[in-house]
Amino acid sequence: MESEEVKEKIKEMGAHLVGIASVNHFRNAPKGHRPSDFLPNSKSVIVVGLRVPLAIVETIPSPFYEAMYDRVNEELSSLVYRVASYLEREGFDAFPIDPDEPDYLRDVKVLEEGETFKIKMFASLSHRHAAVLAGLGEFTPASYVVVPELGPRVRFASVITSAPLEPDPPLKNEFTWGLICKPEKCGYACIKACPVKALPGNGTVDHYKCRKYRGPQIYTMNYFKEIVKLQKIPPRIRKLIVPPNYRSPAAQLCGKCLKACPIGREK
Ligand code: SF4
Ligand code: SF4
Repeated sequence: MESEEVKEKIKEMGAHLVGIASVNHFRNAPKGHRPSDFLPNSKSVIVVGLRVPLAIVETIPSPFYEAMYDRVNEELSSLVYRVASYLEREGFDAFPIDPDEPDYLRDVKVLEEGETFKIKMFASLSHRHAAVLAGLGEFTPASYVVVPELGPRVRFASVITSAPLEPDPPLKNEFTWGLICKPEKCGYACIKACPVKALPGNGTVDHYKCRKYRGPQIYTMNYFKEIVKLQKIPPRIRKLIVPPNYRSPAAQLCGKCLKACPIGREK
């Protein structure tokens, strides 16, 4: 199977961006979050991206953005399903990973207790890292990924596959910024835009501050501590145990950091 042919096919399915990473590039990912943890014979990770319309991002914060965020996620879920089906028809194994997942499926660690309560959250597979490894973009001080023509206004999902595809070269070999994202030019607009200082500017995000701003009643310390307790339970049966309000909390989105980024605004 030729990589270019596969990417062309996936673009015909509707992907705006497609990149391919070798599973070897994920060797430094935390245990339980590597492609081989989902598909033992995996060789490649195909990352697809769909743009979020700029005019919608300009309305942040708004119900239009909330609706579009869900819509793009649904489209991505459907897209990775179609990509996986195509790979299976070609005789390979494929494991599609949705763009988003409920918190109870994530790894949550409490880093600090008390007033400076701090948590770290890991998705099953980091689509952001996968996108960078597949040559689609680079990390930023705000922890999101930017791509040359769209800035951060793109969402990603991935398909892990046994197909031995030729990988795309990463734009750079570290998870840092400087090629596309130039903070000295914008004056760290993303960091300044955060109303609760949840972005220290070192490429991380204070998940607790960010979530608490978006849903103070939902994202309490107890909410996260309960999820930490679930970590010992295999993900496939967690849903049977978590309380209903942990399954689909209806918190608001924010996205002010994303809206502030100037990359990709030029026509
Ligand atoms: S989404 Fe909002 S609260 Fe969260 S880091 Fe960005 S600007 Fe801050
Ligand atoms: S706002 Fe500036 S520092 Fe932040 S991601 Fe965009 S270019 Fe980089």
